[in-house]
Amino acid sequence: MLLVSARFECGRAAADSLIYASLSAEAYALMSNRSHEAVMPNLALEVVEMLGQTIAKVVPITIVLALVFSVLTHFWACNPGKPWWRKRELVTDVCYWFFVPLFARVLRIGLLVLGAGVVFNIHDADGLIAFYDNGHGPLSQLPLWLQGLLFLVLSDFMLYWLHRLFHSGEFWKYHAIHHSSEELDWISAARFHPVNLLIGTIAVDVILLMAGISPNVMLWVGPFTTFHSAFVHANLNWTLGPFRYVLATPVFHRWHHTALEEGGNTNFAGTFPIWDLLFGTFRMPENQLPESYGDDDTHIPNEIVGQLAYPFRQ
Ligand SMILES: [Zn+2]
Ligand SMILES: [Zn+2]
Repeated sequence: MLLVSARFECGRAAADSLIYASLSAEAYALMSNRSHEAVMPNLALEVVEMLGQTIAKVVPITIVLALVFSVLTHFWACNPGKPWWRKRELVTDVCYWFFVPLFARVLRIGLLVLGAGVVFNIHDADGLIAFYDNGHGPLSQLPLWLQGLLFLVLSDFMLYWLHRLFHSGEFWKYHAIHHSSEELDWISAARFHPVNLLIGTIAVDVILLMAGISPNVMLWVGPFTTFHSAFVHANLNWTLGPFRYVLATPVFHRWHHTALEEGGNTNFAGTFPIWDLLFGTFRMPENQLPESYGDDDTHIPNEIVGQLAYPFRQ
């Protein structure tokens, strides 16, 4: 997990702050004393518009990723056999692929507005825009590339521990959805239960933006995380040689998706394997490739609606 290893959000990019600016005014008005009748149609329109914008952005990215990974897996497949477009659960993964960026975006904006109100006592639209548009406080004074790097490292550290949390106790049933992919490929990167996303990338993004990092870092952090999360799930035998310790690779993350006895409880880092090296969870056996994927729980449904309901039925 990705997500939380494998964080996936096509919707995270430059336009976020613009949309945030317009939506925040509506969202806040909705939560304050303004008449709901006056606000609801506007808010609904914003959400529909955002849905359109998200899909318009996701479609070209998807086409590029599909082409890139089709070519790469033709030459360097980790597990030769079926191409990704003949996956059994392709429709399920495509649904997540479009649903997740939209869900993540709406929720992130909502939490940012709520957080600014509760923690910083900022209650008007102009104040919210001024507070978030270019970041705030000491962190926002750093060069943008450094803020981006800080964002990547700090979020990856938090996500490492959240990922370990999701592999334990009551949390596992939510994260099991991500591990249910048996034919693991780049398109599986978005398969996350909303609860996993909320106590994962969304919470971490909100914490770092509330701490003052400029949302403008998403200009390159967004495309990087989108590409990288698809990359680590791709059916590729790439380890990147000595760089296997620097950046999470397909073989590194595909080991994480194997059964527990094979090593599924290792390689929790989303981007930087250093966390696994530091905390003793790194595992990449020499001259060996992972072969089979999925969790052992055969009760997880194959389609998205059943999967979304699954944790609440346990
Ligand atoms: Zn994964
Ligand atoms: Zn996991």
